Amino acid sequence: MKYEKIRKQVLEAILDAVDQGLIKGTSGNIALRDDEEDVVAITPSGIPYKGMTLEDIAIVDLNGKWLEGNYKPSSEVPMHTAVLRARPDVKATVHTHAMFATIMAMGDDAELKPITPPQCEFVPVGIVPFTMPGSDEVADKVVEALGKDGRAVLIKNHGMFCCGKNMKAAMAATEYTEEMAVTTLYAKILGTYEPMPEEGVQKMKELIAADQAV
Ligand SMILES: [Zn+2]
Repeated sequence: MKYEKIRKQVLEAILDAVDQGLIKGTSGNIALRDDEEDVVAITPSGIPYKGMTLEDIAIVDLNGKWLEGNYKPSSEVPMHTAVLRARPDVKATVHTHAMFATIMAMGDDAELKPITPPQCEFVPVGIVPFTMPGSDEVADKVVEALGKDGRAVLIKNHGMFCCGKNMKAAMAATEYTEEMAVTTLYAKILGTYEPMPEEGVQKMKELIAADQAV
């Protein structure tokens, strides 16, 4: 089968996200760019992820044009392909309606700050105002909020969008952004909220970038 390698990684990632409770029903979508050709494997629109096959994963070009697959690509294809076009360093993109990230995206003080060292890799987490799902407008706003090296953004009244140099990195961004939202929410409820000091965050980011974090 054509593009089996990227289809397999997308399918495995979406099932992993479902298992972790990051994705429910048919919400959320995941994309991965091919290493050699300018094509992208992306989850299909409106199909339950459990029981999905490799042939069900859609293949699109970098402008989102549907090339292959049993079902049409996710309606959020513009968001994924806009980020992949804008960021050559990004190969994998993950959009979910993960519960805690969605809750924390609503407040006026929605900015997430690291509570634990591994979360430092994914800040600053951008904030995207609500715009219609699936629109070019939301795609442009996600690109803008990610900037040149952002890994995660919260989308108000919708969810989050994360990216990385490969699927593992994009999934880590998703998992740790949700973890940041969970820990922030509970700490705020308990009245014990105290994010990591800014100096520690910067040091951790440097160590992570130099691949020296333990
Ligand atoms: Zn969505």
